[in-house]
Amino acid sequence: MNSHDLEKWDKEYVWHPFTQMKTYRESKPLIIERGEGSYLFDVEGNRYLDGYASLWVNVHGHNEPELNNALIEQVEKVAHSTLLGSANVPSILLAKKLAEITPGHLSKVFYSDTGSAAVEISLKVAYQYWKNIDPVKYQHKNKFVSLNEAYHGDTVGAVSVGGMDLFHRIFKPLLFERIPTPSPYTYRMTEYGDQEAVKNYCIDELEKLLQDQAEEIAGLIIEPLVQGAAGIITHPPGFLKAVEQLCKKYNILLICDEVAVGFGRTGTLFACEQEDVVPDIMCIGKGITGGYMPLAATIMNEQIFNSFLGEPDEHKTFYHGHTYTGNQLACALALKNIELIERRDLVKDIQKKSKQLSEKLQSLYELPIVGDVRQRGLMIGIEIVKDRQTKEPFTIQENIVSSIIQNARENGLIIRELGPVITMMPILSMSEKELDIMVETVYRSIQDVS
Ligand code: PLP
Repeated sequence: MNSHDLEKWDKEYVWHPFTQMKTYRESKPLIIERGEGSYLFDVEGNRYLDGYASLWVNVHGHNEPELNNALIEQVEKVAHSTLLGSANVPSILLAKKLAEITPGHLSKVFYSDTGSAAVEISLKVAYQYWKNIDPVKYQHKNKFVSLNEAYHGDTVGAVSVGGMDLFHRIFKPLLFERIPTPSPYTYRMTEYGDQEAVKNYCIDELEKLLQDQAEEIAGLIIEPLVQGAAGIITHPPGFLKAVEQLCKKYNILLICDEVAVGFGRTGTLFACEQEDVVPDIMCIGKGITGGYMPLAATIMNEQIFNSFLGEPDEHKTFYHGHTYTGNQLACALALKNIELIERRDLVKDIQKKSKQLSEKLQSLYELPIVGDVRQRGLMIGIEIVKDRQTKEPFTIQENIVSSIIQNARENGLIIRELGPVITMMPILSMSEKELDIMVETVYRSIQDVS
């Protein structure tokens, strides 16, 4: 088996996610063989800085000895047994730990294995909650509000609350109705004024719709502080807090989807802490195992959990579960990941590094096709435009953004684009020097197409 065979078999047998396979098969694939710290190595021995944290998941670096050992220790005990009718040690300890570290009274943990499933569970729980507490009074509370350009995953429920037309429009006939509300995308909403004015406009619009429709709304789901997949849309300060207040005022459950922003990514362990917001339900995933195993969780407060208690014939049971719910290997890794985050004071380190990074990022404005540089913690989006004045984007045919990504790869950096936005999501443990290299490589990669 050599790299040519692997390339041939990859193109012949593997269907890659979110990928136009016709284009993919015409390109040279990047086939990763191993990882070490902040770097990945392909089958030909080339080294790449992982500026995408392997899809926003990696926390402490690749091939991390303590995480490796946690996995080995657990696999030598047991790899998996079901949570259906029995419990297991790591899932108990992890749930207790998550209850301690998540905000407010979030304390009841329902496990799953992807962010999409965590979102799906939050929607089903929120829907059933109202039926459990009063099926007559709340018979119409069946809908969900979400932001324009929201992304909450790819299962049918998660797509239903999504707002990214490109990904979601084909599936419309399969979806339940969502109620959209404006997203404060300040860069593209300058007609409303500065970010404070954009925030006020979006909050006013949300309040108007809640005034009219709150009786039909079970919950509002939001990516706190930053809409990641939409292109790192950073929300104005105070937006999340104002959303929380409206949810309380109009008796709507607030679901914070922390799948992308949780575990330190924005400079606090959970993003909603920055606005002192405590959701009714929180979804977490991605960084939970430090980037080692698929695991996600939906965490509820006691009031929601209690509404599901009753006799079997009251039909308040939550009929949901997956085969690998509460998998021991994943839970053991998550416990070790959280222990390392705490022991290494990673969140403070991220705060320090993001300050240094924001100074460095300013240099990108020297490049005329850089329209906007957005950053929250170690989440960075660079919006590429044809004309800085008009903010006109390049067309897909012009192929500018993907050429920048390709240049970066040739320069030894893995990053990705989201539409017209170049996104950098470095591994959270990356050193200041590596972060500098990441930005310098992006600078050169943009310069080369300008
Ligand atoms: N929610 C948010 C905010 C996300 O960014 C993502 C993935 O990017 C998801 C949910 C879905 O997570 P997964 O891809 O693990 O299903």
